[in-house]
Amino acid sequence: MTNALTKLLATRDWILADGATGTNLFNMGLESGDAPEMWNDEHPDRIALLYKQAVDAGSDLFLTNSFGGNAARLKLHGAQKRARELSRISAEIGRSVADRYDRPVIVAGSVGPTGEIMAPMGALTHELAVEIFHEQAEGLKEGGADVLWLETISAQEEYKAAAEAFKLADMPWCGTMSFDTAGRTMMGLTSADMATMVEKLGNPPLAFGANCGVGASDLLRTVLGFVAQGSERPIIAKGNAGIPKYHDGHIHYDGTPELMADYAVLARDAGATIIGGCCGTMPEHLSKMRAALEERPKGPRPTLDQITDALGAFSSAADGTGDDVPAPRRTRRRRA
Ligand SMILES: [Zn+2]
Repeated sequence: MTNALTKLLATRDWILADGATGTNLFNMGLESGDAPEMWNDEHPDRIALLYKQAVDAGSDLFLTNSFGGNAARLKLHGAQKRARELSRISAEIGRSVADRYDRPVIVAGSVGPTGEIMAPMGALTHELAVEIFHEQAEGLKEGGADVLWLETISAQEEYKAAAEAFKLADMPWCGTMSFDTAGRTMMGLTSADMATMVEKLGNPPLAFGANCGVGASDLLRTVLGFVAQGSERPIIAKGNAGIPKYHDGHIHYDGTPELMADYAVLARDAGATIIGGCCGTMPEHLSKMRAALEERPKGPRPTLDQITDALGAFSSAADGTGDDVPAPRRTRRRRA
């Protein structure tokens, strides 16, 4: 099976993904609490601009504005019946932007979590989760997405349901989890757990990795955790631009474009192939990341000390992997 991402991966040592969706849309006037996916229909020009700004800054791949576009999430906005339609439009806009460039640009159909806790801990059954993800996947496929892109997942049950749904849609996919709780996902998975889980899937992703989480340093420690498992599968690093801090009632990311340039190079040297940013990552960060990846030669795999020297301290002493450190106590937080 050949698809645009597999072809690009075959010819390149690294691929630059995009940055933040939410942060950029808030700057365009999105109110917190609004569903960003509504803008696919109401303000397609702004969504096209979001995509275009990333590609103009050097991204080879961008995510569609469909992160919260599954029926479970849209239900909070009374729009659960529009999951397929809004996802399709997000990809259609993406396709029209990507096809304007004379270099390959990958349209990755973003699929975020359902926001519900899956069985056996919660009420969302595997069957229903597969149905929810399948519906969104069909919309993204209709709109012309090259690949599907699962992100910010905490539970392996949800990751597995999405893998099954994407097989039903007959679409290649990538999938990342968010390691935001002392190096583990909110549901307790370590980087080693994820790398092992991915290889056991009946429909494994083209690439897997981490996005969001806490800061850029933590994310690279997670990447080193994946690499330590010896997977041959391409690894994705999509870290936040610095550390989230509350400021004047909103969350601000303190990472400069220069810091994200260092992060991008360290991510590549750590073993990641698809490198981008998450929250707080703006086009000016992406430009510096692109330049650094092109200009700085590949170096040896960084140590943890080199990562913290360049990007700042980890948010927790250990990430739960390795034998010389005690595993942090598992915390299970419930989301409403
Ligand atoms: Zn994020």
